[in-house]
Amino acid sequence: MTRKKKPTLAERALQAKEEGLKHFETPDKPCRKCGGIVRQTNRQANCIECDRKRSLRFRQKNPGHRQAYYQSRRDHYLKVQKAYRGNNRERYRKLLRDWHEVNPGYRVFMVNKHRFKRIGWDHDLFDDQIFELYQHCGIMNQFLGVEGRGIFEVDHIIPVNGVDENREPVVSGLHLPDNLDIVTNEENREKWNYFTPFVVVYDESGRVIDTYVIEDRELQAA
Ligand SMILES: [Zn+2]
Repeated sequence: MTRKKKPTLAERALQAKEEGLKHFETPDKPCRKCGGIVRQTNRQANCIECDRKRSLRFRQKNPGHRQAYYQSRRDHYLKVQKAYRGNNRERYRKLLRDWHEVNPGYRVFMVNKHRFKRIGWDHDLFDDQIFELYQHCGIMNQFLGVEGRGIFEVDHIIPVNGVDENREPVVSGLHLPDNLDIVTNEENREKWNYFTPFVVVYDESGRVIDTYVIEDRELQAA
């Protein structure tokens, strides 16, 4: 009499792998640690949750290991990526297009990030907030652009390298969320990077009670 042998975990994993799956369920053999029933096809010893926790523990115990590993094989990875791009040109282009379609603010965000990084302004801390603004602007352009061209821009409220009407440098605003605003590109062209120095007068409670352009009053007082 022949008895059909029950497939081992490894065999079942292999089968799932051949079906193109990354996970498979093992309700008859729950994880010995936590009772979970989902396992990875390429690591069947523990369940997927325990595997995750395990690698998290390893990363916490060995900070920098990942980066060091990547660096040690960087050339290899770059070669693999390049080969992939070369062999799947259309697919890669489509992936990229799709990605930019849902992240319409990313390109301008990065251009500006590097532009200011080059002069030593490091704004990594505010990246999320700044990106959100560029992303918002990009989405507005997707919906309200004219003939495929955006009409909104992210503007520095106080211009970076602002000059007065004699083109003398007077002020420089920062590339920080508080100094960024979304305006139409026409408004931005008109404003350019001209800046008229002004004074804001506060009362004791911090309320704005007066603002005036410096030259007018100062000249009158003189
Ligand atoms: Zn488990």
